Amino acid sequence: MQLTVARTMDELAGGIAELVAAGKRIALVPTMGALHEGHISLVRQGKALADAVVATIFVNPRQFGPNEDFAKYPRTLEDDLRKLDEAGVALVYTPETGDLYPEGYSTSVSPGAIGAELEGKFRPGFFDGVATVVTKLLLRTLPHVAIFGEKDYQQLCVIRRIVSDLDIAVEIVGGPTIREKDGLALSSRNSYLSAQERKTAPALHAALAATGRAITAGVPVKTALEQGVAALAKAGFRVDYLELRETDTLEPMQEFEAPARLLAAAWLGSTRLIDNIEVE
Ligand code: AMP
Repeated sequence: MQLTVARTMDELAGGIAELVAAGKRIALVPTMGALHEGHISLVRQGKALADAVVATIFVNPRQFGPNEDFAKYPRTLEDDLRKLDEAGVALVYTPETGDLYPEGYSTSVSPGAIGAELEGKFRPGFFDGVATVVTKLLLRTLPHVAIFGEKDYQQLCVIRRIVSDLDIAVEIVGGPTIREKDGLALSSRNSYLSAQERKTAPALHAALAATGRAITAGVPVKTALEQGVAALAKAGFRVDYLELRETDTLEPMQEFEAPARLLAAAWLGSTRLIDNIEVE
């Protein structure tokens, strides 16, 4: 199957109609581009779960705060299209901002409490932006299944919540985090790191792993988290949060009960990294 590129809502609708007419089961993989092996792993999962994978590439302005990196976010469209073609994607939607948010656009989807904590606390409005664009992409493509990375674990939980709350008939599937050999989770934002910061960056995953081990070994959660924050600070990070949460609702967890999720966000210089692991 050759890759079809849709740049507008009409072209997307035409491409989807063809897939539906051919009786294809559709998997959706939304991205912001600057594609790496983490994104491609979601495409592979989509291919295993459906007959045709539809990907989207859109750097969504509504999920960036006024002082965030929207303008400098990496944009590598030609490379991305080549990677999607090689991975066997059937249709990719790469709209301009005005195609999703035309003049007069005003509606926002807000996930409520689950989006107000962790990332939501440090990036106000972030999950409203994510929920709005993902809802629009789901409604435009009407896939059978949509795949999201566990790398953005809270985002995955938020999307499960909105799909359930808004009765959107799609199965949401999470894909495991793809990492560099040294443990650093692949991320489009890793390209911001200086050579020195890149050397330090794996300490984020190392601190999550060590904190997870301490918690399963019986160290009180509060103590283990304090030790984790101290280890990150010593490595050179400025920590936004390191928290243990219930695995689906993301409610705070004072006493460890498996399975739980350990989530962190921390800055190296001007680059903000996030990561998380399961604790069982
Ligand atoms: P982004 O382009 O960063 O918005 O990510 C698009 C999708 O790819 C989201 O569902 C992310 O969670 C997922 N993703 C990003 N990095 C990784 C990774 N290292 N492993 C697996 N999935 C990832």
